[in-house]
Amino acid sequence: MATCTGCSLLCEDIEAIVTDGGLSHVKNLCRKGHGHFQAVFTERTEPSIDGQKVDLEKAILAAAEILKNAKRPLLYGWSNSTLEAQAAGIRLAEKIGATIDDTSSFCQGLLMERIIAGTIPTCTLDDVRNFADTSIFWGSDPSNSHPRHLSRFSYYPRGDKRQKSYEEERTCIAVDVRKSATAQLCSNYYFRLAPGGDAEFMEAIISVLDGKIPKVADKKKMIELGTLLKKTEYGVIFPGLGMVYSMQDRMDLFERLMARLNEITTFRAIPMVGHYNMRGFNELLREKTGFINRVSFKGGAAAHGPENSVLSAAKSCDAALVIGSDPLSSLPFGTARALSKKPIIAIDPRRSLTTDAAKVVIPSALSGMEAGGTAVRMDGVKIRFEPIIESKRPTDEEILTRIMEAI
Ligand code: SF4
Repeated sequence: MATCTGCSLLCEDIEAIVTDGGLSHVKNLCRKGHGHFQAVFTERTEPSIDGQKVDLEKAILAAAEILKNAKRPLLYGWSNSTLEAQAAGIRLAEKIGATIDDTSSFCQGLLMERIIAGTIPTCTLDDVRNFADTSIFWGSDPSNSHPRHLSRFSYYPRGDKRQKSYEEERTCIAVDVRKSATAQLCSNYYFRLAPGGDAEFMEAIISVLDGKIPKVADKKKMIELGTLLKKTEYGVIFPGLGMVYSMQDRMDLFERLMARLNEITTFRAIPMVGHYNMRGFNELLREKTGFINRVSFKGGAAAHGPENSVLSAAKSCDAALVIGSDPLSSLPFGTARALSKKPIIAIDPRRSLTTDAAKVVIPSALSGMEAGGTAVRMDGVKIRFEPIIESKRPTDEEILTRIMEAI
């Protein structure tokens, strides 16, 4: 049995046989996971310096040299690495006084911080399957982002207390700016928001729960929603990036909504984390420093602040190590352009815009297929996995350890 690292559901029931450089007899992989597994055979990276192929040892030594000479190094990525590699990365950041940050810094971090701290109640996906009768997909579209979410946990499966499942016992609600594939499934319970209208919608729900008339156009539909929420026995909200980006510094309102719902019934939230081990990095760094991201070890002690966010540090650093991430594609244009002018060390199993622009490229084994390790699923459950094929490529952890030794 293999584990898919294609998203943060970390499906552990994958059957796949690898023959002659291809996949055969694949079972339980969704289309996204299939693409993830299949990609192990294409667009692989090779060790290189300034675009010239070199041997692995030379690339590792060049990376160590860059980091040793840097005064303001940035270590970025981490959400697609195992816990073991993340721990090695944090040790490296401490050793060289670097800034360390991950993708949560500009996506689910605002929410994840509250989930880990316990200010927003959460549960496991197994609880969702066993107990949930109402699932709210808020600014998220699992049918595309986490294709097995609905079938394994939130809508279709039969659970301990939900034997009649979606036919009779589960309701799904979508709150989104567009009628996504998931919203189409929710039919009558799709609530269309204006872009940036999430806070207003939350206030309207709180009003209805308080027995007041909501300040929205369709008052009847909102009152119906309030009645449904009050009748819910075990509800779960799955916030996606659509909600997080819209709420930003108003996340306290979501906390208030969750608190109000829990005065009436049971409601939990699980952020729809994209990368397979973002939560693992957040938990690990918090354990070590008290912060989930945006940490600088310059001067020895861990300091936290917006200046340590990748969005700032990409501009102020004088060298960057990027692991399992493609910031030149995903960061805002100005930030990506500033980063592209710095010496980049890219550790990645596959080619990307960032590896193509990097000064040093170090190829790594693909987690789940070629490398084993541990990761934390979106709901906080730790998953251990073993490789299913042999590879000569080193794991992220081995590469980071060798760089540290060379420094
Ligand atoms: S849902 Fe996610 S983890 Fe599961 S098979 Fe699909 S991509 Fe992989």
